[in-house]
Amino acid sequence: MTDEKKVAVITGGGRGIGKAIALFFAQKGIDVAIAGRTLSRLKETVSEIEALGGSGLAVQTDVGVPDDVEKLFDKTLNTFGRLDILVNNAGIAQTTESILDLDLSYLDSIYNTDFKGVYLCSREAARTMVPQKSGSIINISSVHGLVSLPCLVYGPIKAAVNHFTKILARDLAEYMIRVNCIAPGYVHTDMSVELGRDISLFLKNIPMHVPIPPEDIAELAYFLASDKSRYITGAVIAADAGGSSDGGWRAYGK
Ligand code: NDP
Repeated sequence: MTDEKKVAVITGGGRGIGKAIALFFAQKGIDVAIAGRTLSRLKETVSEIEALGGSGLAVQTDVGVPDDVEKLFDKTLNTFGRLDILVNNAGIAQTTESILDLDLSYLDSIYNTDFKGVYLCSREAARTMVPQKSGSIINISSVHGLVSLPCLVYGPIKAAVNHFTKILARDLAEYMIRVNCIAPGYVHTDMSVELGRDISLFLKNIPMHVPIPPEDIAELAYFLASDKSRYITGAVIAADAGGSSDGGWRAYGK
């Protein structure tokens, strides 16, 4: 990272991995705008950022809604005057279901947040980054996008995020904008608790038998945001304690 102050938009910054990234970036001197549907959570994160001596902006946003996304980027530019980094982290997941039982509303809700949200935010960021000929976009997908695991909609949508990363990286390379993706394995967050899976079984079955601390994802995102990774683009990096190297369903005892 150069000495010049950078500005990041982080979606889903009110809790979990997104919050860890927001706090880590703030500690590194980056101004962060965080987006999510629950304003109170975003405000709490901003208070923690300010307590660290950083600057944060909370913007209530549904990443699947084009008007919300436009406002998020307008507010960020009006507040901080520039945009260098986008972290597309906001996401929702689903529990294991068979195609015979799957409620069709899953298709729309997961697509809207986990893919359309990534698309809309990337498009809006590119509108600022292209003229300035710099920027770093970091997508958060999942091990579910790398190997077949029992998540019938979430997995394919995260695989689409991985593929989108590569195509967008090619599209924006001529403007020196980099697009990369982190595919985490199991990270202990509210999302993973809410899914209610037997995580001890999952951890027993993955090669390193450990969850990934959210701070490790934050550190990797910071590397991908920084000039240290200046020629890395189109990369999908698994941070999954070996989960994707060992294949899929066995980790769920299936
Ligand atoms: P959490 O559920 O803890 O946090 C998700 C965040 O996304 C929340 O802040 C939520 O805020 C926000 N969000 C959800 N939907 C929307 C939306 N439509 N618009 C704006 N914000 C939204 O999840 P994690 O921190 O665990 O996950 C973060 C990312 O990492 C996700 O993309 C997830 O798929 C991915 N991931 C997580 C893994 C894990 O084991 N935890 C493993 C692999 C990948 P609000 O509800 O207020 O909108």
